[in-house]
Amino acid sequence: MEHDIHAPDAQGFIPGVYNYCDRRCERCRFVRQCRVGAVDVDDVGEAEDAVVSGRPEDLRERLMKLMNRPPSEAEDEDEDDEVDTEEEDDGDAGGGLDFDFDPADMEPTAEELREEEKARQALKAHPLSNMGMAYMDLVDEWLDPREEMLTAKGILVHRQQELSMAAAMRTPEILVLSEALDEIGWFKTMLHVKCQRAIRGKLEDTGWMKAMDMDPLQSDWNGTAKLCLEIVQRSVAAWETVAELMPEEAEHLVAINELLRRVDEELRKEFPDAQRFIRAGWDAPDQPSAR
Ligand code: SF4
Repeated sequence: MEHDIHAPDAQGFIPGVYNYCDRRCERCRFVRQCRVGAVDVDDVGEAEDAVVSGRPEDLRERLMKLMNRPPSEAEDEDEDDEVDTEEEDDGDAGGGLDFDFDPADMEPTAEELREEEKARQALKAHPLSNMGMAYMDLVDEWLDPREEMLTAKGILVHRQQELSMAAAMRTPEILVLSEALDEIGWFKTMLHVKCQRAIRGKLEDTGWMKAMDMDPLQSDWNGTAKLCLEIVQRSVAAWETVAELMPEEAEHLVAINELLRRVDEELRKEFPDAQRFIRAGWDAPDQPSAR
């Protein structure tokens, strides 16, 4: 039977559902089927708890999450460590495999270093790299001088301001604008980071998936490019909301919108098959297509 990538595992988690998501766990429909999200919702105030408890395993789990790594990887590594230890013990007893490991074997060759440098330069020169940086700058240039005015009107520029906002100020319009700005702020850096990941993955792709008889459409860089397209689409929608509710700002948003249009165009040119990538969970036939 063909493997169903959307099917939950024995613990009810969809493997890899966290790989191409927006990381907004608090509003995610997969939060209970995701190893990363399940940890997040179960551990409100976890950082403080970890510090209070002082348990090394709490601190370690927190660190793994900050590194964007699911807890299963930490567990797997623990298991690997145990296996390694067992193997070492066996080796000492003379009954295991005899690894003749020379760290020099792990050193990249001169040719590999040249290739790495070539890829690094190509990444730096890629139009999407410049556009990602320029987008971050444009958002800051628009937001920074307006932050005080927006906050005075009760519009949240940062999510952590939510608790300090007087209930009387929470009109539907203010809430919608706050939500749009939250979306813009959340994706501002992520767009650049994910574009970099997609380009680098493509540049460094050795074609191993094809060689292993796997579908190259399902490469990590193609999935990351699909997420980039979603980020652009949602950022555009958020800026449209800002322009609609703050029409006096419309002319200041022209450059931002034009840049996002060009990012979208470049992404589609560089990753023409991105939309054909199937994300575990998100692209299951019975899931709604958008959040
Ligand atoms: S898939 Fe997991 S990591 Fe991603 S937003 Fe949902 S709960 Fe969070």
